Amino acid sequence: MGKVTGFLEYERKDPGHRPVRERIKDYGEFTLPPGLDTLKTQAARCMDCGVPFCHAGVLADGQSIGCPLGNLIPESNDFIYKGEVENACKRYAETHPFPEFTGRVCPALCEGSCTLGERRDPVAIRAIERYLADASFKLFAPKPPAARTGKKIAVVGSGPSGLACADLLNKLGDSVTVFERADRPGGLLTYGIPNMKLDKKTVAARVSFMEKEGVRFVTNADVGGKAAVDLLKNFDAVVLCLGARNERLPNVPGKDLKGVHTALKYLTLATRALLDGGAAIPAEMNARGKDVVIVGGGDTGTDCVATAIRQGCKSVAQIEIMPAPPERRAENNPWPLWPRVKKTDYGQEEAIELFGSDPRRYLTTVKEIVGAGGAAVAVKTVEVEWKTENGRMVPAEKPGAEKTLPAGLVLTAMGFTGPETNLLKDMGIELNARGAIAVKEGSYSTNLHGVYAAGDARRGPSLVVWAILEGRKAALECHKALNG
Ligand SMILES: Cc1cc2nc3c(=O)[nH]c(=O)nc-3n(C[C@H](O)[C@H](O)[C@H](O)COP(=O)(O)OP(=O)(O)OC[C@H]3O[C@@H](n4cnc5c(N)ncnc54)[C@H](O)[C@@H]3O)c2cc1C
Ligand code: SF4
Repeated sequence: MGKVTGFLEYERKDPGHRPVRERIKDYGEFTLPPGLDTLKTQAARCMDCGVPFCHAGVLADGQSIGCPLGNLIPESNDFIYKGEVENACKRYAETHPFPEFTGRVCPALCEGSCTLGERRDPVAIRAIERYLADASFKLFAPKPPAARTGKKIAVVGSGPSGLACADLLNKLGDSVTVFERADRPGGLLTYGIPNMKLDKKTVAARVSFMEKEGVRFVTNADVGGKAAVDLLKNFDAVVLCLGARNERLPNVPGKDLKGVHTALKYLTLATRALLDGGAAIPAEMNARGKDVVIVGGGDTGTDCVATAIRQGCKSVAQIEIMPAPPERRAENNPWPLWPRVKKTDYGQEEAIELFGSDPRRYLTTVKEIVGAGGAAVAVKTVEVEWKTENGRMVPAEKPGAEKTLPAGLVLTAMGFTGPETNLLKDMGIELNARGAIAVKEGSYSTNLHGVYAAGDARRGPSLVVWAILEGRKAALECHKALNG
């Protein structure tokens, strides 16, 4: 433990954000890089509390406690407090291959379970992680495995689960080829999470690091049909890290009008335009000068708010059918569970400063998308209240609570239902009742011998940190099966 009285002496201090008016002019990261002095003080606040829930990584009642990866947080904090950055980096590397991603985009499940957080603000663990991640890139050179096992493994999908799986298999000496449908690797780290949250140079740097260690990436490779069957012939094992990319769509009149798009399509295009040197975005998909309505009040919706603001939208509204989460933990959500409380994220922060109010409209749903000349011009909404019907909570429309919002661009960010099924059908892979890839109890093995699944495709839509854990666990299972 660094400083015995640190938690009494110091308050939480985050590295902070770039000012709204400055950051909305570009697509650069909105968080400021943390400085070592601030982080030493944060590390000094760690109480090394005997039962560090921050690295527990367990589910209780379906709710998360601590870091799924089991990062050795108190030990790293101790090193950071003493200024031993290299040792802290090595501690992180024991459990976590890509802290540069989660240090930027993780909701920090660890902080929700930090013991100091029971009474005061938790230690700024994610900021420490980001600092260590960026330091690790400078400290450690790529290190290919000393010996190869001779086993060849195909990983399909290069999101965080595919990357984590490939990384560990490669470190264990297996020869790994990652097949990716998109033109760049990274999955949602590249095309999904906006550059403002995670600069794509960071993803490219990790991919390049892995290439130097021996992982082979094949992009523009949409695996399906004969290519899928061939994988089974040409490789000793296959790990499917396809993501859960089937988007939930609204079932309302007007959903097929011009100007109605899914969030993923919209965010992908915006990032691709940025990466391709500012290539033009088709007018129909560009928020410039338009009233934008986003259906979905979650994090993906927030990313759409921030992107639309940078494109120069006239106004932005986010429609959410659920009630606003409470400001403080509810009684059934005590520490050390992840706090399910209302947060005002970067997109809302920007909308409030630019347009004067929070874009989120809770307990509201879309009734119709109104068109003129084949294109969306407005969205009809109605407020709802949740009622119990036959033991189930259902939304009921409130009479007379209808509104019409102008909308030149409507983005649907209503979540994801599961993996796309083409490849799975071609290979004969079974799904479970939730629409995710079915696996044997407590394992990552599918119904097909030698084929494994990990990440959102197996778990359902989740978080980067869980995808990384899934990728690593699938890699271990696959490696053991092949190599003993
Ligand atoms: C807009 C958005 C923002 C998000 N923000 C955050 C955040 O801030 N923090 C956080 O923790 N989580 C966030 N998430 C969730 C997180 O990104 C996912 O949980 C995570 O990326 C899942 O990783 P994965 O590897 O399982 O799948 P994905 O990242 O979806 O990657 C799957 C990859 O498989 C490829 N693929 C699919 N089928 C084939 C095929 N047949 N052939 C070849 N390639 C194929 C796809 O092209 C894709 O690249 C966000 C999600 C979205 C949509
Ligand atoms: S990966 Fe997420 S939960 Fe784990 S230590 Fe980092 S910020 Fe915390």
